[in-house]
Amino acid sequence: MLKGKTALVTGSTSGIGLGIAKALARQGANIVLNGFGDVEGPRAEVLAAGQAMGVQVAYHGADMSRASDIEDMMKYCASQFGRVDILVNNAGIQHVASIENFPVERWDAIIAINLTSAFHTTRLALPAMQAANWGRIINVASVHGLVGSAQKSAYVAAKHGIVGLTKVTALENATTGVTCNAICPGWVLTPLVQKQVDAKAAERGVSNEEAKRLLLGEKEPSMQFTTPDELGELATFFCSAAADNVRGVAWNMDGGWAAQ
Ligand code: NAD
Repeated sequence: MLKGKTALVTGSTSGIGLGIAKALARQGANIVLNGFGDVEGPRAEVLAAGQAMGVQVAYHGADMSRASDIEDMMKYCASQFGRVDILVNNAGIQHVASIENFPVERWDAIIAINLTSAFHTTRLALPAMQAANWGRIINVASVHGLVGSAQKSAYVAAKHGIVGLTKVTALENATTGVTCNAICPGWVLTPLVQKQVDAKAAERGVSNEEAKRLLLGEKEPSMQFTTPDELGELATFFCSAAADNVRGVAWNMDGGWAAQ
């Protein structure tokens, strides 16, 4: 379905981004990975997912908190593959603290990485998408783009912001073949959430399994984590022809979290 297209997935060396990169590779898209930590493991996983389709996998280590790194990454994508057809804005971090105790530097980092980076990638990717009259921008927001939770001021602000950016991007391109939509996961058991599980286990003096049950029980009626593979399938749908007229939605995959 996506043979010949190129997908840039930010923050794809781990978790949800890696799941989405693999799903798009399975459909034949060439992939540009981005993110910190081990690169060779994720690269091998994405290559294996796209092997039958002969996909190519590239990597750029841009720090998504830096506009100049992002500009460099977008130039790299163009030099490797001509243009970015599918942009998945996924890189994100979390910090949990009350507003009066929230470190200013953490606020700035969360807004930069979880929100402002998507403005930069989008503004730089759009001209080539518009010229080709085809493009897909998928913003990995969160159920926290739709509802709030205590202790997560910067994250909730950034995620509400990216849902807003999604709508404006969709509207500005509504008469073209370029669509923009957001994905809003509930709990997904990635390193980002494992830190919160560990904190809960320490705070309550309970096992890891019990801490997971407590975390799910507070928010997620299904009592199940959403998986990166499931989110990859949703991203694949947004890239399909069937989604040509899906524009500006914030689609939750949250086990009923926001339905309450
Ligand atoms: P993760 O920690 O597993 O992965 C985050 C990725 O972002 C990694 O590849 C990391 O290297 C990269 N990254 C972090 N800072 C970066 C920076 N400055 N520059 C470039 N890359 C950077 O986390 P995840 O849970 O897979 O989160 C991915 C996205 O999904 C985030 O936007 C997060 O807010 C969102 N999300 C996660 C959950 C969840 O429950 N895990 C729920 C809703 C939304």
